[in-house]
Amino acid sequence: MSIQKKIESLRAKLHLYNFEYYVNDNSLINDFEFDQLMKELKEMENNNPEFYDSNSPSQRVGGQITKNFKTVEHKERMYSLGNTYSEEEIQDWINRIKKTLEDRTPSFTCELKYDGASISLTYEKGVLVRAVTRGDGTKGDDVTQNVKTIPNVPLKLRGNYPDFFEVRGEIVMPLAGFSELNKKRVSAGEDPYMNPRNTASGSLKLQDSSETAKRPLTCLIYALIGKNLDFKEHYQSLVEARSWGFTIPETLIHASSKHQILEYINSWEKKRGELSYEIDGIVIKVNDLKDQELLGFTSKSPRWAISYKYQAEQVATTLETVTYQVGRTGAITPVANLTPVLLSGTMVKRASLHNADQIKKLDLRIGDKVYVEKGGEIIPKIVDVDPKNRAPIENRISYIKICPDCRTKLVRIEGEAQHYCLNLDGCSTQIIGKIQHYIGRNAMDIEGLGSETVSLLFLEGLIKNTADLYTLREEQLMPLERMAQKSVDNLLLVVKNSKKQPFAKVLFGLGIRFVGATVAKRLANHFGTMENLMEANQEELIGVDDIGNRIAQSLVQFFKNPKNIELIKRLKSYGVTMKEETKALSSEILVGKNILISGVFETFSRNDLKKLIEENGGKVSSSISSKTSFILAGEGMGPSKKVKAENLGIQIISETSFLALLET
Ligand code: AMP
Ligand code: ZN
Repeated sequence: MSIQKKIESLRAKLHLYNFEYYVNDNSLINDFEFDQLMKELKEMENNNPEFYDSNSPSQRVGGQITKNFKTVEHKERMYSLGNTYSEEEIQDWINRIKKTLEDRTPSFTCELKYDGASISLTYEKGVLVRAVTRGDGTKGDDVTQNVKTIPNVPLKLRGNYPDFFEVRGEIVMPLAGFSELNKKRVSAGEDPYMNPRNTASGSLKLQDSSETAKRPLTCLIYALIGKNLDFKEHYQSLVEARSWGFTIPETLIHASSKHQILEYINSWEKKRGELSYEIDGIVIKVNDLKDQELLGFTSKSPRWAISYKYQAEQVATTLETVTYQVGRTGAITPVANLTPVLLSGTMVKRASLHNADQIKKLDLRIGDKVYVEKGGEIIPKIVDVDPKNRAPIENRISYIKICPDCRTKLVRIEGEAQHYCLNLDGCSTQIIGKIQHYIGRNAMDIEGLGSETVSLLFLEGLIKNTADLYTLREEQLMPLERMAQKSVDNLLLVVKNSKKQPFAKVLFGLGIRFVGATVAKRLANHFGTMENLMEANQEELIGVDDIGNRIAQSLVQFFKNPKNIELIKRLKSYGVTMKEETKALSSEILVGKNILISGVFETFSRNDLKKLIEENGGKVSSSISSKTSFILAGEGMGPSKKVKAENLGIQIISETSFLALLET
């Protein structure tokens, strides 16, 4: 088989597996095999750039950078929807329709109103050519590269599709993925995202599409648009589109009467908590497309469709007490303890209060009747106070001034909403939290030690920091409660084994603010050793890809503290890994070279180029400095970068000459 045939056959296979998986819920192969095939395809594509295809399944992983999203005019305007909140309003809407249709009652469809970011997808000859956000309705942003990374957006269609058409849908972030993403952020010391909807729309506007690829997004289609499509009904058009590879939720129904519409509304109001994504209502549409045409549009919305909005799920309950949690970074989080109440299927006892400002804004008092709402957040939040059920003013919550644990005076860092206890190494909650973080799965993975044992060891005075773990001795552990010879042996063994964990995990385990697992990997990779990292200044840190000001600052701060230096020295002396394992390089052509990648490339994705550079011994940085060896430039390199490069006398080379360089 020729290379081209082989590539095409791999692509066809992967398209098919995707289609079966996302449309028919049918796994033809397991994840591992899928990844293997994808890897094989990527490799062949890299080696044979002449067979590039912008809609290859390999585009799912992203890697293209968009600095400014192009504004694109919508062929047909993206309208908003009229809202209703009651049965009467729905009746009014039906009455208005009947007037235009000369007293005929049309048939309807009901769909869920998916709560995310609207998107328009244009297909030409079965290939996705453009994805555009709603924007102001007449024009939106071209986010094609990012949308291509969403796994259930078909890049190539199957079956009997029209040559030119557009589908419209909503890109949502399912709740499970959202809370997973937030867990990762919190464990990296970052603020969690507020809700899935904003996170979904934010994810479409990321500059690096490989970042979008990491976001758990899914696309739900609700309309098909185009000239000369021979469909008579909206319902039928969606069912047909499903067979081409689009995801149209099975919750779509026909409804021939108001009674059926109301049934749909009520049943989903009860069941919405069972859905894997959020909805904010339902959408009722006139089914017959001729009828839709007769009804037309107002200046803002179609007359043939309307939404019924659900109230955000809220319940009233009583605020009993407020407690304050101390995180491992010293951040204080106020938590409301509530009289337990049922909210969309789960018993709620606690709600987040975020910070002092939030409490002040609501003027919260102990004993207040409060409204609790469940957004996509990890725990519910208090959104309002019932004005008719106010507790007396003496009960007003005064925010704590000292740490509930160590009694140190709290401070508020400028620009941050949170209060902090800065007694980093005297505050027991912080210390325990830090050690618990160190043993966590993404860090040193010392399973078999366990969070509770960490607390116990600390309270018994056996450990004060992570390095102390490595000095634990059998005779200290044996007298402890619930410890037997076997558990002691095991504990000592798992602690000892953790010394072999790679450098990136050690770095993450240190719990430096904003240094999550991914950032730690990037740093380990770039600097190679702890010493190099500790010596790096702000500028050099920012020069590393994906490292911004905030992370750089946090690192500099961390390494300024002599206690942290001492801790690292001790960890090193016990044999904990402090340098990156050297990988076998494909060549050493780029050893000692700092290379900046800029612009968009024809054949390779940025990620591939990064990998190539690293495999040949080079380092990738993201800002120009006197240390930059050369710039690998694609199309659209920024003018300011160019000027800076010229001033510093740094050579700019193209993708082709770069590849030629590697050949030598
Ligand atoms: P609104 O933004 O409240 O005016 O509502 C209009 C938006 O609802 C549209 O732009 C769509 O993005 C979104 N939407 C969600 N689900 C649906 C659906 N099933 N049918 C039509 N629009 C929907
Ligand atoms: Zn404290």
